[in-house]
Amino acid sequence: MKSNYKIIAIITLLLLTLSITISVVNYMVAKNETQANLKTQSLPLSVDNIYTVIQKQLIEPYLVSSMMAHDTFLKHWLLHDESDSLKIANFLSSIKNKYGLLTSFLVSNETGRYYTHNGFLEKINEKNPTNEWYFEFLKISQNHEINLDYNSNFTDNLIMFINFKIYDEKQTFLGVTGVGIEVSYIDEMLDMFKQRYNLDVMFVTPDGEVVLSKKSKYVKRHLNEMEVLKNYKDLITTQDANMFEYEKNSDDYIMQTKYIPELGVYLIVEACIDDFAYKARNVFYFNLAISLFFTLIFALIIILILRSYHKRLEKLADYDALTNIPNRRKFNEEFERFLSLHQRDARPISLLFLDIDNFKSINDKQGHQAGDKILVKTAEILRKNIRKTDLLARWGGEEFIIAFIDTNINDALNISQKIREAIEKDSKLKEISSYGVTASFGLTACNDTDSVDSIISRADNAMYEAKENGKNRVVLSR
Ligand code: GH3
Ligand code: MG
Ligand code: MG
Repeated sequence: MKSNYKIIAIITLLLLTLSITISVVNYMVAKNETQANLKTQSLPLSVDNIYTVIQKQLIEPYLVSSMMAHDTFLKHWLLHDESDSLKIANFLSSIKNKYGLLTSFLVSNETGRYYTHNGFLEKINEKNPTNEWYFEFLKISQNHEINLDYNSNFTDNLIMFINFKIYDEKQTFLGVTGVGIEVSYIDEMLDMFKQRYNLDVMFVTPDGEVVLSKKSKYVKRHLNEMEVLKNYKDLITTQDANMFEYEKNSDDYIMQTKYIPELGVYLIVEACIDDFAYKARNVFYFNLAISLFFTLIFALIIILILRSYHKRLEKLADYDALTNIPNRRKFNEEFERFLSLHQRDARPISLLFLDIDNFKSINDKQGHQAGDKILVKTAEILRKNIRKTDLLARWGGEEFIIAFIDTNINDALNISQKIREAIEKDSKLKEISSYGVTASFGLTACNDTDSVDSIISRADNAMYEAKENGKNRVVLSR
C-alpha cells in the first residue's frame, strides 16, 4: 500500500502539473486575445468615441471662439466703435447664452481694455499676474491657444479658455477674443472615460505640454516631467495617429494617439492591459480552482479504489473463497502468534482437526455442487459453535481446523462433541445428502514444548484414529 501511495502522489502531481500548465496556457492565450482585441477594436473604437464627444463638447466652443475672431462686427467695433461698450457686452452675452458658455470675452489691443458679457471689466496690465496669459499669448506665433486658468471673476473652478487673435484685412493685430468653459465639466467627461472604458485620456500640445488630463487635473504638466511617457514624447507628438506599447510600474500599457487639428492638440488614450485582462485572470483562477478540486477528488477516488482493491486482495489471500472463512495460510500465521503468547503466559489452547466422513462418495452420488453446499454449511455450523476469539479455518478439501483460545481440553471436548452432533443432526445437511453428513474429530491440548507442526500433527493423528474407530466421533490425544 505504501508504494501505492507513492504512485498516487506521482499521478496527482502529474495531474496538477498538467492542469496548472493548461490553465496557464489558456490564460496566456486569453490575455493575448484581450491584448489583440484592445489594439484592433476597443482602443481605436474608444478613441473614435472620445473624438466624437470631444468634437461635440470642445470643438463647438473652439469654433465659436474662432468665429468671434473672424466676426466683421467685432472687428468693426474694435476699429471704430470701442467707446460703445454696451454694444460689445450685448454681442458677448448673446454668444455666451446661445452656446451655454461660462464666459465670452474680448481684449482690445489698442486700449488694453478687457470686455466680457457684462461689459468692461478691467484694463490689461503687464504687471497684473492674472493678465499674464495675454502677454504670453502675444509672444507665440500661433493665432490660437487653449489655456487653463483661474479667474475669480467668473468662478472658483479652473476654466479652459480658448483664445484667438484678431487681425484685420491688412493683418494688423487688433486684439484677442475667446470663450471660457468650466473645466469641471471636461473633468467629468474624462472621469466618464475612465469609468466607462477604463481609459486614461489626456490632451497634449505638440510641445508636449499636458493641457488637460484626469490624472493631473488642475496641474499643468509636461510629458518631459513624466517618468515613462517622456521616453515616448516623439511617438506621441510627431504623428497624426499612433499606437505603441510600453511598461510602467511593471504593468503593460498600450497607448493610442490621435491629433485633433481643430484644437491643435494630441488626444492620447492610455490603457493598462491588466485592467482589461481581468476577465481572463478570473477565468484562470476559476479553472485553476476547478482543476485542483477535481485532481484532489480524482486522487481521493484512486486512493479509495486502491484501498478496496487492496482489501479484496488481502481477503483473497487470507480467506477461502467457497466457505468465506480463513484459509490454512491465515490460520498458521495467527495460530503461531497465539501459541507463543499463550505458552509464555501459560494460558490454555486446544486444537481440533476435523474431516467430513465419506465426502468422496457424497460428491460422487450427489454431485460436486452438493459437496460444495455441505462445505459451506459445515463452515457455518463451526462458526456458530465457537467463540469470536477462537480461530477457525478451512485446512483444505473437506478438512477444517479450530483453535480454541483460552479453553482447556475438557471444555474443548464438550464443544467438539456439540459440534459433531450439530453436524450430524443438521436438517439442511440431511436435505443435501440423503445419508446425512458426519465428521471425524481429533482433539489435542497445547503444551509448553509444542510447535505449530507438532500440535497439528497430533490432532491430525487423533482424527485418523477417529476414522479408524468408525468415524463420526471425537478422539482426544493428550
Ligand atoms: P474419509 O471418510 O476417509 O475422509 O473419506 P473421504 O471420501 O471423505 O476422503 P477422501 O480424501 O478420499 O476424499 C475427499 C474428497 O473431497 C475428494 C475431493 O474430490 C473432495 N473435495 C475436496 N475439495 C472439495 C471441494 O472444494 N468441493 C467438493 N465438492 N469436493 C471437494
Ligand atoms: Mg480428507
Ligand atoms: Mg473425508
